[in-house]
Amino acid sequence: MRCNNIKGLIECSFVDWPGMVCGVMFLGGCNFRCPYCHNHPLVLETDSLPALPLGKVLERLAPLKKWLNGVCISGGEPTFDPELGTILTRLKEKGWKVKLDTNGSRPFVLKKLLAKRLIDMIAMDIKAPLDEKKYIRCTGRRVDLENIRQSIRIIRESEIPHEFRMTVLPRYHNKNDVAELTAYLAEPLKLQNFNPRTTLDPRMAIEEGFSPEIFSDLQLLASGAAHNDSNDKMLIAS
Ligand code: SF4
Repeated sequence: MRCNNIKGLIECSFVDWPGMVCGVMFLGGCNFRCPYCHNHPLVLETDSLPALPLGKVLERLAPLKKWLNGVCISGGEPTFDPELGTILTRLKEKGWKVKLDTNGSRPFVLKKLLAKRLIDMIAMDIKAPLDEKKYIRCTGRRVDLENIRQSIRIIRESEIPHEFRMTVLPRYHNKNDVAELTAYLAEPLKLQNFNPRTTLDPRMAIEEGFSPEIFSDLQLLASGAAHNDSNDKMLIAS
């Protein structure tokens, strides 16, 4: 199958796979419209972005194999791409370890890829506690939360390394949201502080992330360490 949806490639990243040095492929298209998305050209303008042929991308990555630990597939939302299985299969044939970034909205795709052992690590972005109104606000879409719950279950049960992440910003999130989602997951949640540098909704450019002090308190809460702890007092009011 011909793959027409690889819209970007980073040959060497130190930040996209915790503890690993990796290449990153960006696939176009996404079913969410998170107002704070910083990869929005991949979401809104994907048809007008030139595609990189998979063969060429594999050729460019091949000589880097001795320095890279693997390849991260990001987006956009990669599970939205019908060619994702082909891309992962070709990477596996070339002996690459693969990390997948996902918003968790398509659990049936995750299940299929995991059953074929095409993924070595998954990072799932959870946008808010699993509450319809909060999810609509953070994704700009009505989201079937049962799909999100199923993806969380599938990833956990897969027993491959994984992380659950949430981008937080004062307009949308508070300490109770972080505490609620961390308690639901019953494992640490990785937080990313909002950066207004470039956003899908231009009105978000005037928003700010949390101050370093508050963000660090939220991180403590997300680690599970501050649950029911006196540190709660330091956190912002809900
Ligand atoms: S941040 Fe939201 S809109 Fe942007 S790629 Fe991720 S899920 Fe899609």
